[in-house]
Amino acid sequence: MIGQASTRTHLETTVRTTCPYCGVGCGVVAASDGKGGVTIMGDPDHPANRGRICIKGAALAETVTTTGRLMAPLIGGAEVGWSQALDLIAERFAQTIARHGPDSVALYVSGQFLTEDYYVANKLMKGFIGSANIDTNSRLCMASSVAGHRRAFGSDTVPGQYEDLELADLVVLVGSNLAWCHPVLHQRVMAARAERGTKIIVIDPRWTATCEGADLHLPLAPGADGHLFNLLLCHLYDHGLLASDFAPHVTGVDAALTAARASRAGDTGLSPADLERFLTLWAGTEKVVTVYSQGINQSESGTDKVNAILNCHLLTGRIGRLGMGPFSMTGQPNAMGGREVGGLANMLACHLEIENPAHRAAVQGFWASPVIAERSGLKAVDMFRAVEEGRIKALWILHTNPAVTLPEADRVARALAACDFLAVSDIRADTDTARLAHVLLPATGWGEKDGTVTNSERMISRQRAFLPAPGQARPDWWQLAEVARRMGFQGFDWTGPAEIFREYTRLSALAAELGSDFDISGLTDADYDHLEPVTWPHGRASARRFFGDGGFHTPDGRGRLVPVVARLPDATTPDYPFRLNTGRIRDQWHTMTRTGIAPRLSQHLGEPFLEIHPADAACRGLGPATLAEVTSPHGSAILRVLLSDRVAPGHPFAPMHWTAQTAPTGRVDALVPALTDPVSGQPASKSAAVSIRPFPAAWYAFAVARNDLNPACEYWAKSRAAGGWHLELAGMAAPADWTDWVGALFGTEPTVALSDRARGLQRFAFTENGLLQGAIFISTEPVLLARSYLAGLLGKLAERPLAGRPGIDQPDPGPTICACLNVGLNTILRSLADGTSPSVRALGKALGAGTNCGSCRPELAALIHRHSHREAAE
Ligand code: SF4
Repeated sequence: MIGQASTRTHLETTVRTTCPYCGVGCGVVAASDGKGGVTIMGDPDHPANRGRICIKGAALAETVTTTGRLMAPLIGGAEVGWSQALDLIAERFAQTIARHGPDSVALYVSGQFLTEDYYVANKLMKGFIGSANIDTNSRLCMASSVAGHRRAFGSDTVPGQYEDLELADLVVLVGSNLAWCHPVLHQRVMAARAERGTKIIVIDPRWTATCEGADLHLPLAPGADGHLFNLLLCHLYDHGLLASDFAPHVTGVDAALTAARASRAGDTGLSPADLERFLTLWAGTEKVVTVYSQGINQSESGTDKVNAILNCHLLTGRIGRLGMGPFSMTGQPNAMGGREVGGLANMLACHLEIENPAHRAAVQGFWASPVIAERSGLKAVDMFRAVEEGRIKALWILHTNPAVTLPEADRVARALAACDFLAVSDIRADTDTARLAHVLLPATGWGEKDGTVTNSERMISRQRAFLPAPGQARPDWWQLAEVARRMGFQGFDWTGPAEIFREYTRLSALAAELGSDFDISGLTDADYDHLEPVTWPHGRASARRFFGDGGFHTPDGRGRLVPVVARLPDATTPDYPFRLNTGRIRDQWHTMTRTGIAPRLSQHLGEPFLEIHPADAACRGLGPATLAEVTSPHGSAILRVLLSDRVAPGHPFAPMHWTAQTAPTGRVDALVPALTDPVSGQPASKSAAVSIRPFPAAWYAFAVARNDLNPACEYWAKSRAAGGWHLELAGMAAPADWTDWVGALFGTEPTVALSDRARGLQRFAFTENGLLQGAIFISTEPVLLARSYLAGLLGKLAERPLAGRPGIDQPDPGPTICACLNVGLNTILRSLADGTSPSVRALGKALGAGTNCGSCRPELAALIHRHSHREAAE
């Protein structure tokens, strides 16, 4: 097998698999037509989504192209065979360990890993190399939830299920933009609300799409979540809501209350009326689910915030029963699987504890391994610090892009560039991290991989291959096992993921004997190929929910309320007076290595931006659609200004998706400090202190092109369009000759030119046989044009390509809102203005908007809301 190239031979097939993006873990049905065509639908039989799917899932078929894929192993940029590449990794790891000890090497892996990949990586590192220096990018996502669970429950256990959000009478969403980040679960909540009147409270400093349709939005002071839930704890106790029947199952009430009483209402930044409404609603509703996500976890006190939430559920006994409980949403499709299988530096497999000698001995015995790691390894941020300081000398990064996503990303990139030995496994040939690798290994991607994943509600599902691997791409588990064998280790000779999974289920039986909650031993003899979605525990014990009758995994079996001394982020300084919040947008995933390929996913928001309050913008001299230069002590970024009263003054927001390939000055994590929670090690990615000033643009430009262009100017961002590419550009000085400059950019002479020097306008078009190949519109002001219309002209006969907008008989649809049905903002506003579409349902009927995946429905509702308010005011 080794070194054998394979061509991508397509077979006609239909398989049930899972979406590779968020932690909802939707089932999808993938059909391959045998000629390279793929269609994707929501799986009607998967319990997580029952056929629903969001826009990212719906566009999956557009992302399975081989364009840009890494097809063969590379050493120093030169193609080699698998044996040579694997030999080199094994040799460099072995040499480094021999000279500097096992802690001088590390693996950095990913929530995109399948559980079987994780199992092999963890076994290699902790059981055979003898170091726990393996961590996962899930550290950036939900490590504080893990730490909070372990402090309160004695185990990393999510007590409830998604259906609890449907059965609840009150759903509290804190630090979670569920509508954009977990859209299908949001749709389930909204459907339950329509059916049974569920109340919804959103706690978020920012007004997000999730607020539309909520009963109450609490614009909490950033970082004040600990104070808010401390106040709730006191309110619950003072109003007699300590559950007397549940009290024997918990401990620590008095200490938690004492700490909580230090929190003040004024710390929350909420109005007294809003605060009272929240406290009263939560206290008065037995069936309450508190859903939390990155807004809680990504904080320098994230673990405390998690425990402040858990305290309230433990005090009232609102946990582990139908329609109630705390609920942590994971970001990635298999973040939960990584937690279960020991992907984190501070855990053994199957929720066993690295600090526990009996657990270590049991795992070592099971693996028959020569050693076992005896203490926690380095967590993500510390791991890259160790690389920088030369303590880690050989690093293998699989399926993730830390040169973009780690805080202080520029510093991480420099550390990687200086690392003695860096191997990277990826599906893409060119990522910010792959560019720095000594050895680059082609991995199989979604659609080619076989294994299992666990979603946020502990449901294990199969991910099944329906496409052949392109070129020489190989699964991650295989790459890791081959290196292990080359290092002389026994126990890595599986022939496929089913064997790895069975070994894992057997280890879980042993773990269950040691008291672990994680037991999937009942799946040992399951038909792996046809495994249906199943919730753990699935062994000797089985339960849909945990802790309804106590039974915590602490030494005394009682849940622990943890005293939380809540604190706010440090004050900003005169030099860095703004507090930048970072996060995701609706249609992109992580560093866009896949979603960035689908043109329709770039139509919604195709450029890095800074969402900033108009008052902040005015005082900084920033006009709409100009560019802002955002600087922190760690780096800088140039971002498009988006004026918005959805963010509070002083607290702008910027998304985290752009990279050196798509917008080199839009890498937002370059701004974020490497401040971490002291318990979980999770970075505080939502509160970077920054300064903001106008970027001194002498010119702005918008371009469309059939071919991928490589601009040479201070600012550029590019995204896919249906017929090619969109580009936004700007520079600090105009070139001496625009015709020469655009000729160099497009690699050919323009065929049409238009210049209005008085207005500072330059426009050029490039045609071949009358068909538009590209066009660029340059101005001294931000360019206001019908962008999607212009992109739609690419490759077509264009009569007036430099007009920049459609003729009077062709109304401009405006920026895309519904990416499935391609319905633009202007079209929606026109429909609202003529009074024919006063509801989301009516808009769907009239325009089709929101009738496919439903991801845009909150935005449609917000547009209707704003329109009706405007009408009422007029
Ligand atoms: Fe995929 Fe969307 Fe489902 Fe998340 S909600 S798993 S992104 S289809």
